[in-house]
Amino acid sequence: MSISSDLFARALKVIPGGVNSPVRAFRGVGGTPFFTESAEGCRLHDADGRQYIDYVCTWGPAIHGHNHHVIHEALRKALDRGTSFGTPCEDEVMMAETLTRLVPGLEKVRMVNSGTEATMSAIRLARGCTGRSKIIKFAGCYHGHSDSLLIKAGSGALTHGHPDSAGVPAAFAAETIVLQYNNVQAVEDAFAANKGEIACIILEPCAGNMGVVPAKEGYLEALRELCTANGTILIFDEVMSGFRVALGGVQELSGVRADLITMGKIIGGGLPVGAFGGRANLMDMLAPNGPVYQAGTLSGNPLAMAAGLASLNLLEKSMPYARLDAAGARIETALLAAAEDAGVPLQINRSGSMWCPFFNESPVHSLEDAMKGVVPLYAKFFHSALDKGVYLPPSQFETCFISTAHDEAAISRTIEILCESITSL
Ligand SMILES: *Cc1c(COP(=O)(O)O)cnc(C)c1O
Repeated sequence: MSISSDLFARALKVIPGGVNSPVRAFRGVGGTPFFTESAEGCRLHDADGRQYIDYVCTWGPAIHGHNHHVIHEALRKALDRGTSFGTPCEDEVMMAETLTRLVPGLEKVRMVNSGTEATMSAIRLARGCTGRSKIIKFAGCYHGHSDSLLIKAGSGALTHGHPDSAGVPAAFAAETIVLQYNNVQAVEDAFAANKGEIACIILEPCAGNMGVVPAKEGYLEALRELCTANGTILIFDEVMSGFRVALGGVQELSGVRADLITMGKIIGGGLPVGAFGGRANLMDMLAPNGPVYQAGTLSGNPLAMAAGLASLNLLEKSMPYARLDAAGARIETALLAAAEDAGVPLQINRSGSMWCPFFNESPVHSLEDAMKGVVPLYAKFFHSALDKGVYLPPSQFETCFISTAHDEAAISRTIEILCESITSL
């Protein structure tokens, strides 16, 4: 018995499924999870003394790798001043100033404690501003686990075979219209069938929770036009893609501007954080200025603000996006070549340092396409890589992330291992 399996046995007795978030349980790939004792740079060290080059990067936040000394130091300094005040503090202002400076169209922003809270609150705000109830989301997009959004959701909801969670009242689900990603016609039809009723469209402008599925050319522009024409609020959920694909997120890459933007992950520097914001006239509908209520005991927490600010400052200083993209391109090229040699059907979807392998014959532009893949091959690939010291997401329907701590040597070693794993499939 390993220490990890002992810990998992203990966890199973007192935590549902042994984990505090479902995908961590490895149900998507089989086997049992390892327990991490510490993490440094691009590596995780498990309780049994094994180490892994990590491509989960704490599900996206660790763009600087784990335990970066600058974030560590910022946290230490913040800790000396206290862990929570319950009054405003300067770091909250600095965080809002930084976000509004870096994110296109972000005039005002409010901090929350998770991406789930951010999207839930943005949707309430969109409903409050428009006086409409219905929302449009897309199959395979994941926006956290709130009721209106846990319908044909991606991420763990997919691998567990319950994209529609039990416990979501049918009356709530009826307010959520679920359409195919990257399909403009479906959105046009939905607007025609629900004239004047749609409060907002929410989407991941580069999807990362059904594996990586970038928006097709012209898709975001078309959604923008339809929303403007119909008085519907466009929400880009950039919890994952924000500060990941570019400093200004997909908005910067595409030039398309949303009305509201939700954020999380990287902006917390590894601490629990979310944020939502956008046009000032919309954001001023929030309490205490307006009628839409939203609050949080620990929102704007000084430790989270300090870690997040350190993370954002580091990004601004180092501007690592070209380097991250080059690392992603190396992995993509090498894996595709290995798959061709081995006669393994493989698609690599990628936006900069977000990437994922699909063992599919044809390109993946939607959840339907993603589901055509050979998921058992992913599980085999995952375990082969893990045995050799590379930790990929324990599910086909997640994103692999590259951090600035993945140096040349780590990328080269990764390529060796992953190519061997593909050859052995
Ligand atoms: C992770 C994620 C969320 C949920 O964030 P949590 O902090 O896990 O609640 C929402 N939207 C997207 C796009 C995400 O990737």
